[in-house]
Amino acid sequence: MARIVMKFGGTSMAGTERIRRVANIVRKQQARGHEVAVVVSAMAGETDRLVNFCREANALYDPAEYDVVVASGEQVTSGLLALTLQSLGCQARSWLGWQMPINTIEAHAKARIDSIDADALIASMERGEIAVIPGFQGLSGEGRLTTLGRGGSDTSAVAVAAAIGADRCDIYTDVDGVYTTDPRIVAKARKQTAVTYEEMLELASVGAKVLQTRSVGLAMKEGVRVQVLSSFVGDDAVPADEYPGTMIVSEEEMNALVEKGDMERQHVTGIAHDKNEAKVILTRVPDKPGAVAHIFEPLAAASINVDMIIQNVGRDKGETDVTFTVPQADLARAQALLEDKRDDIGYNRLITDSKVAKISVVGVGMKSHAGVASTMFKALADRAINIQAITTSEIKVSVLIDEDETELAVRVLHTAYGLDAADEAA
Ligand code: ADP
Ligand code: ASP
Ligand code: MG
Repeated sequence: MARIVMKFGGTSMAGTERIRRVANIVRKQQARGHEVAVVVSAMAGETDRLVNFCREANALYDPAEYDVVVASGEQVTSGLLALTLQSLGCQARSWLGWQMPINTIEAHAKARIDSIDADALIASMERGEIAVIPGFQGLSGEGRLTTLGRGGSDTSAVAVAAAIGADRCDIYTDVDGVYTTDPRIVAKARKQTAVTYEEMLELASVGAKVLQTRSVGLAMKEGVRVQVLSSFVGDDAVPADEYPGTMIVSEEEMNALVEKGDMERQHVTGIAHDKNEAKVILTRVPDKPGAVAHIFEPLAAASINVDMIIQNVGRDKGETDVTFTVPQADLARAQALLEDKRDDIGYNRLITDSKVAKISVVGVGMKSHAGVASTMFKALADRAINIQAITTSEIKVSVLIDEDETELAVRVLHTAYGLDAADEAA
């Protein structure tokens, strides 16, 4: 017997028929003798619909009231799943974020989980009840509802798994694992048996939305075993206990898998894309100490994350151009702040462009293998794809390109690094 958290995403919960399918997967897992807690997302598209209502009601919406509205999507699906499980003869009940409670800190709309009181939940599971928990929801120190940021149900699931000491956290979604890149863009993407926490963290943070970045960080910190697998399977599917999906593993486990011949280590594990960044160019900034600080201080004070930065070679007259990226959602605020500080910074023109995409290649193998970046630049150059900015970390290289070239770039790189499924068969 094991204690297992099962999380189902929006597409898995989209409508009563799909919820019935989910209920059957949950019932089967319990019938194998496990204690189960289920974390659910809102129905696909529902959170977007609710966010739009908030915008329509008040463009400058109060994040605390936004949370009240958007958290409702998960309340509906958790109740519906509990009802459906009961109709199948299971004992089940919902546990809303404020009931457990899942205590959060920091801001509304992007709250972080601080602690979870799981005693009552564990007692209920031990009595044979299936606990159904709406993802995404929490409770603030002031006793108000909070939400964990888009995609936050993954983090709810991992946090619950840590709090109840679960043996595993299974994240059920609409693909059957973590692929070498988004399988909806590259048909030849390959499913991975395992990915390390470190690589998954980096992949998620550069746009592979299959897991929310925070959920991976939390799993790594708490040592939660996470599996990504599909809920769109038939009755004859391989049971989750036999790992049909992708396991997120430690570096040591990965080395053991490689030694056993279950995994082949590539220099590049995956390729991700992100269309949610925007580029800002400030021209003719004074080329002197302190100039760059003047640009980024106000952005940092406004909690705007700057990602890629390029300072061009100085021009003749002690001036330089500075290019950087910010999240598209923060572009208007960033622009207003920079215009406000124009005299302090002393730039000539402020140019913005939202039609950009960040393409990243990730792999632990980069630590010991040179040439990954040059392969990227060459492959993109061969297709005349222009690189507008570059950043690197120990296990990642990212480039900024024209948004229209996203799909082409991802495909070209997937082939260039020998990741195409056909290559494996050859
Ligand atoms: P859920 O609603 O279940 O949380 P998401 O839409 O958040 O599902 O995440 C699943 C999606 O992530 C897939 O449909 C796929 O298009 C996308 N995705 C992006 N990169 C990858 C990748 N490397 N492997 C698998 N899926 C990926
Ligand atoms: N429903 C929320 C969202 O769409 C949380 C989640 O599904 O993970 O962002
Ligand atoms: Mg998701």
